[in-house]
Amino acid sequence: MRQLQIQADGLSGHLDEFWPIVGPDSGWSGGKGESWEDGPYFLDGLVPLAWQLDSPKLKAKAMRFIDWTLDHPWENGMFGPRGNDDWWPRMVMLKVLTQYHELTGDARVMPLMTRYFHYQLQALPARPLRDWGRMRWQDELLSVLWLYQRTHDAKLLELAHLLRQQGYDWQGMYAQFPFKEKTDAEALRKQAGASDAFMQDLGLQVHGVNVAQSLKASPMWSVVSGGAPDREALHHQLRMLDTYHGLPNGMFSADEHLAGRSPSQGTELCTVVEAMFSLEVALAVTGDASLGDRLERIAFNALPAALTDDMWAHQYNQQPNQVECSLHREPWTTDGPESNLFGLEPNFRCCTANFHQGWPKFANSLWMATADRGLAAMSYAPCTVTTEVRGVRVVVEQVSEYPFRQAVSITLRPERAIAFPLRLRVPAWSQGTHIAVNGKPVKASAGFTTIERTWAPGDTVELTFDAGVKVERGYNGALSFSRGALLYALPIKENWVIWRKRELTNDWQVYPGSRWNLGIRPDVQIAVSEHPVAEKPFAGAAPAVQLAMQGRYVPAWKASDGNAEPVPAKAEPSDDEDVQGITLVPYAGAKLRIAAFPALD
Ligand SMILES: [Zn+2]
Repeated sequence: MRQLQIQADGLSGHLDEFWPIVGPDSGWSGGKGESWEDGPYFLDGLVPLAWQLDSPKLKAKAMRFIDWTLDHPWENGMFGPRGNDDWWPRMVMLKVLTQYHELTGDARVMPLMTRYFHYQLQALPARPLRDWGRMRWQDELLSVLWLYQRTHDAKLLELAHLLRQQGYDWQGMYAQFPFKEKTDAEALRKQAGASDAFMQDLGLQVHGVNVAQSLKASPMWSVVSGGAPDREALHHQLRMLDTYHGLPNGMFSADEHLAGRSPSQGTELCTVVEAMFSLEVALAVTGDASLGDRLERIAFNALPAALTDDMWAHQYNQQPNQVECSLHREPWTTDGPESNLFGLEPNFRCCTANFHQGWPKFANSLWMATADRGLAAMSYAPCTVTTEVRGVRVVVEQVSEYPFRQAVSITLRPERAIAFPLRLRVPAWSQGTHIAVNGKPVKASAGFTTIERTWAPGDTVELTFDAGVKVERGYNGALSFSRGALLYALPIKENWVIWRKRELTNDWQVYPGSRWNLGIRPDVQIAVSEHPVAEKPFAGAAPAVQLAMQGRYVPAWKASDGNAEPVPAKAEPSDDEDVQGITLVPYAGAKLRIAAFPALD
């Protein structure tokens, strides 16, 4: 809740006031301006944010676009700006409309969607999916199935099959997974040579945002096929990405295409929020607890890391080992020199419009209804949920400072006593979890712990997770340190310099003011200390947890072009300098940092 308010007070609540792309002239509100993906992207986060905060001001901002879209369909069933007939931006707007309908029940939504899907079903054979829409068909499938669950219109299933048939075969791609190396321009040219008539662009199969969106393809299709292999396929896909492109922050490298495992490579912010949304969808479909672990790793590390603490500026690319944010070419595969600046629209404007969905959709996914008409805690964060279970209104209140603390307290307030199963996700990293209902211990089990009982108003469930420090090995045997859902990093002293003023915000470069080239022994002693959780919980100024340990300088490990060289496999510590006492802090707060250290074996 606090994080959502920070977001509303930042760029999300003000972007339309000074950024013309989503301003009064947007094609998605009847103007002559931008008419492609940016308007829908912005709304995809603004709509849930506005209703979660119950903010009349933000709702009014969203309604400007939504009213225009719902009231100006084309005669043939198409909707949206007349300036283009691209299927792709409409796929995003459909996600907006489904969320908006769930929040308001607006009677205009389902008829518009029905007419559009009927139109598309007859138009697709002559004008098939191509480029972005072809790679992202699974995002439309989500909205098609959403409507099918409400109307049982058989044509929607026909459309689902057609979308899959015309869409890119992600499952087939991952089954082969030929993309095992950092992509470069040469490799992209080769792939383009082997591609087909429906793909103009180079390397859309290895484009980070497409890959992030692809993670929902198999689980979503399993809803149609009913097949366990479709549900399971995601695990193989994540394994391929981890093995060849995995980074310590839970993400894969993509700057802007898959870029290998070096922690100096970057990941685009759109890729972060789209991976989160795919995992949220997959979690809802499969109920697989391990996807919740992954989701939290990304949400509590990679997401806040790419945004300033006040959420007024963001990066296009973040690096786990990020020693300078300045204009430089290295080490991006195809992105431009602004890529890791903090600003309004560094490198390209997509993330400026698209990042807003990150926190609000995560908040939407904290609790889910279960198939046996109970409730499930899928991820943890302080929140209040009002819902209906088996016909009874239930308010669930979660109080915690998770992920900075390991205790979570959940109070249930049903209108009257009611029996239902309550499922609680137990993260795999927590080996000795304690759960108690009204003070009486309950046996915790791996994955989900289910508590079946009659819940009375005021019943309380206390969870205490067991988060030891974990040392993980990555690229060239590099060491990363995590504790619970948080990754830790060595903060580098930051000097923030305004590069350009951008009306209500700025573009910043950040220069290092301290040394960072340290190696650490794998068996290092680590002292954990906890400090108060600040008003802005992810801010770097007052870290809520610190890990104290020792390291030694590795003089041969240097920066070039504002970028830490790949972590050396064999690190020689300095002979003339003593062992250094160092303190690691939660990754997201350290905007300059080292999160993967050479191992001093
Ligand atoms: Zn982007």
